[in-house]
Amino acid sequence: MTKPKTMREVKEMYDRGANIMKLFHELEPGATNSLRAILTSYDLQSGSYIKFVTEHPEFVDNYMGTLARLLDGMLPASLLEAGVGEATTLVNVLARMTKVPAEAYGFDLAWSRIACGNEYAAAKKVSPHLFVGNVMEIPIQDDSFDVVYTSHTVESNRGREKDILRELYRVARRYLVLLEPSNELGSEESKRHIEEFRYCRDLPRHAAELGYKVIEHRLYDYHWSQRNQTSLMIIEKGLASQARDNEYCRTDFYACPACKRPLEMHKGNYYCRECFLVYPVIGGIPCLATAHGILASKYLEKA
Ligand SMILES: [Zn+2]
Repeated sequence: MTKPKTMREVKEMYDRGANIMKLFHELEPGATNSLRAILTSYDLQSGSYIKFVTEHPEFVDNYMGTLARLLDGMLPASLLEAGVGEATTLVNVLARMTKVPAEAYGFDLAWSRIACGNEYAAAKKVSPHLFVGNVMEIPIQDDSFDVVYTSHTVESNRGREKDILRELYRVARRYLVLLEPSNELGSEESKRHIEEFRYCRDLPRHAAELGYKVIEHRLYDYHWSQRNQTSLMIIEKGLASQARDNEYCRTDFYACPACKRPLEMHKGNYYCRECFLVYPVIGGIPCLATAHGILASKYLEKA
């Protein structure tokens, strides 16, 4: 294999059918999927999820409809999908919920996927707030969302399960709902798949070791692939739902991913007064990973 030198060359290999995660495994051997591998894979595949759900309306009805009914039972006033991709799950869940949460947010590592997600949401007449962020350092204040859920987000993060659970739990108020592969449930083929792709393992054990209350863990009702079945795990955090006033502004939830203090909007970008970091808003999309932060101690007075 010729080693690609630039991201354009990686994309050309992807366009010719290369598996980006496997490519990075060969380039960077190690026990876990590197953040760069995940990000590259996710960004280059932007558009693929929308194509998939458009071609599989029955799957959408089943998978997203079942999740919508589950979330309906929790009556969330606010909802966050971590690892939202192109918002194909979030948009279709919101479109199927009986009582739509007043505030629906979603984030993903890859800007291109969020951009696709905004287009998809607009076409479906649903308007969640989508932003770029990293599940290892969620740019959201503590106890913000009644329900936080994932759909195959922890999946590619073997070795980081506890850190991610801790972050997801931190920003949740009442429930954390995880639709992820399980090495304990489901078919032997799925278990082999988890090992082959180094997917996450032992989520109930990690949750228990963190002292979290797992109230449900079972194979989910639907799977987009029998080779990679989905399991449902629900953690109850149990804080009361927080009524927010009508003057609520959307910057309310955002926090600096580095220090977790509230961000403020200034001249079209987000700013952290503690870290002096400017987080840019690009194409209307807030970019809120520490890697995006531009050190600018004079931003408030000079910009
Ligand atoms: Zn900060």
